[in-house]
Amino acid sequence: MLVFATNNAHKAREIEQILGGAYRILTLKDIGCLEEIEETEPTLEGNALLKARYVKEKYGYDCFSEDTGLEVEALDGAPGVYTARYAGDAKDPEGNMALLLANLADKENRRARFRTIIALVSDGKEVLIEGICPGRIAPTRSGAGGFGYDPVFIPDGYDQTFAELGDAVKNRISHRAIATEKLREMLRKA
Ligand code: IMP
Repeated sequence: MLVFATNNAHKAREIEQILGGAYRILTLKDIGCLEEIEETEPTLEGNALLKARYVKEKYGYDCFSEDTGLEVEALDGAPGVYTARYAGDAKDPEGNMALLLANLADKENRRARFRTIIALVSDGKEVLIEGICPGRIAPTRSGAGGFGYDPVFIPDGYDQTFAELGDAVKNRISHRAIATEKLREMLRKA
């Protein structure tokens, strides 16, 4: 049994689908952890570790957590670690996408990537795992699937956004899928 330190039901479902039911995954709600774990570190790695360590120390469960950032070339890697709060503390996806599209309005280079860091804290060990999905930011939003920035992110090799491509494609190629696949390999060998 493994705790996934998240209250984001979308992420929990994605990761469960990718792990293919091989593990029983509990979310923070399942273990009665109702407090918000503040992401106070300046890097994805720092925030992922902070959440996993918190659960291990306070609740005793082996745990993994993930932190994801959208890194846009023309914006020097922003929003990066501030991806969730790009347009303010409300963490509103519509506001975030509107600000991103506005900040890219006069930019030719729309290259971007999602980068996920998974931190696994188990058996006294700490491991960091990375997954990267390269792509570009679309001129406007399209599609109704997924969550967060999915309506404006077009992964390399495709002409549609994650929100248009749907779960089956996204869960094969996404940053989180790549990191989770590595996690699965690691758990299999343990
Ligand atoms: P966090 O990892 O929960 O802090 O998420 C950071 C930000 O990235 C949030 O605004 C999420 O909505 C967004 N995000 C994380 N993963 C994805 C994804 O797979 N697609 C679109 N947006 C994502």
